[in-house]
Amino acid sequence: MPSCELCGKDSNSLTKTKIEGATLKACESCAEMGDKVETESNKGRKKKTGDKSRTRNRNTKTLAPNYGEKVKEAREDERLSVSEVADDLNEKESVIKKIEKEDLKPDQSLASKISGKFNISLYTNTEVSNVDTESGDSRKATLGDVAEVKE
Ligand SMILES: [Zn+2]
Repeated sequence: MPSCELCGKDSNSLTKTKIEGATLKACESCAEMGDKVETESNKGRKKKTGDKSRTRNRNTKTLAPNYGEKVKEAREDERLSVSEVADDLNEKESVIKKIEKEDLKPDQSLASKISGKFNISLYTNTEVSNVDTESGDSRKATLGDVAEVKE
């Protein structure tokens, strides 16, 4: 009985399988780990179905009405300038300024960067029940926080 060149298991149905560049005769279960060496007739790969939209709108999150004020207060609390914050978050100074004036609504990813930095929450999410802003536990320091400690 022929045996699988990968695991050595005896098998009647060995499949030519390409694994890490080598073509081996493999049993069914090993063949699943590699690329089946196809014959010309059935080579055509299935086309990927159209892009599924990744931007699903989650309506559960809403921006805090006074988000600009929150950011400004948090920033002033930490005695940081707008440019320092912008630098830290890899954003333009003008973006932070606009957010503070509430001329610009941060999207959720930016909002979460800001929230993480200042340990505040800009988006309120009804699903999240363990918001730890109240605990005073700020172990969630961002890399930027660790890099520069002013006394
Ligand atoms: Zn095998």
